[in-house]
Amino acid sequence: MRSVVAVLIASGSGFGRTEQELLSAGSRLSQESGVPFAAIVAGPCDGSWPKGCMAYGAKSIYLVDDPAMAGYSPQLYTSALEQAAKAAGADVLLFPSTTLGLELAPQVGYRLAAAVVMDVVGLEGRGTEVRIQKPVFGGKAQSTLTARKTPIVIALRMRSVNLASPDPSATGETVKVPLNLALQAGDWKVLTREVEQSEGLRLEDAKIVVSGGRGLGAKENFACLEELGKLLGAALGASRAAVDLGWVPSTWQIGQTGKKVAPDLYLAVGISGASQHMVGIAGAKHIVAINKDEKAPIFQMAEFGVVEDYKIFIPKLIEALKKRKSA
Ligand SMILES: Cc1cc2nc3c(=O)[nH]c(=O)nc-3n(C[C@H](O)[C@H](O)[C@H](O)COP(=O)(O)OP(=O)(O)OC[C@H]3O[C@@H](n4cnc5c(N)ncnc54)[C@H](O)[C@@H]3O)c2cc1C
Repeated sequence: MRSVVAVLIASGSGFGRTEQELLSAGSRLSQESGVPFAAIVAGPCDGSWPKGCMAYGAKSIYLVDDPAMAGYSPQLYTSALEQAAKAAGADVLLFPSTTLGLELAPQVGYRLAAAVVMDVVGLEGRGTEVRIQKPVFGGKAQSTLTARKTPIVIALRMRSVNLASPDPSATGETVKVPLNLALQAGDWKVLTREVEQSEGLRLEDAKIVVSGGRGLGAKENFACLEELGKLLGAALGASRAAVDLGWVPSTWQIGQTGKKVAPDLYLAVGISGASQHMVGIAGAKHIVAINKDEKAPIFQMAEFGVVEDYKIFIPKLIEALKKRKSA
């Protein structure tokens, strides 16, 4: 193995927790494997990105930018990252499990003829081998894979690794990667762009998540969860049933086909606990379920369970929290 490279996608967002986690995981793996650690930053970014990469241990920062990359396009970013990975001599490439990371990791992996492992929750370097942990069977079991060959592309689940302590005085070299992004006829074309209007915390970064399901009964009933979320400083999520009913945006969906979250506290309201939902909260430290059916499967996973109609329990919880805040 020649090097471990973290791939950061600077498309519109700032340098934050996602980047810090990816760099922490990459830096740890490179130390365990005794190989250099580098970072690729793709897209227009300011000086905080290379500095942040250095603070988390990257010694070489490959800046991948071109006027054509000002707007995100999967094809352009895939080509740019393929070229950057080759320039960096990357053997292990770490992507974040964000929407863009999940889209780009398999495409870049294909271009590099690499092995691709998605939804990874643990990494360990043992000499030339990389041990990779990922949940299987809907989160019911954990599998450990051993990568003996490179290149390998890994998409890391967010909030699955502990952050390293940054060293703001750390230094490194920045390398601007020369790109050839010539488009061919019939290639991708972005027709419209819709920016998701989101307020407050990102679900993947939240320490507390309040989530609602079909049991809420109607779209307007999510208002009480919004009030509770504000009081707790929580992000809001939902089951797929609530999303499919059009009660909340699809960006709220948690589960197998939604977002994976790993908060300290997950509050599930009117959610039955189907395996496809539970796989999205496998990393939650504490699960509290509120459900009027005492036989609901979610109680098997929850640390605390409240068997009650949420219409009775949630207003009382809100009232108690308000009292506590004003005390
Ligand atoms: C391929 C595939 C992928 C899927 N991906 C996902 C996914 O990513 N995320 C996901 O969530 N689902 C996913 N699903 C769907 C999943 O199987 C379940 O259908 C879904 O999670 C159910 O959502 P729910 O718990 O909100 O609804 P239900 O299963 O209908 O449960 C509602 C719960 O609310 C309770 N309840 C009702 N009224 C009240 C009340 N007044 N107070 C308190 N409790 C009440 C009920 O007792 C019940 O337990 C997927 C399914 C498939 C086949």
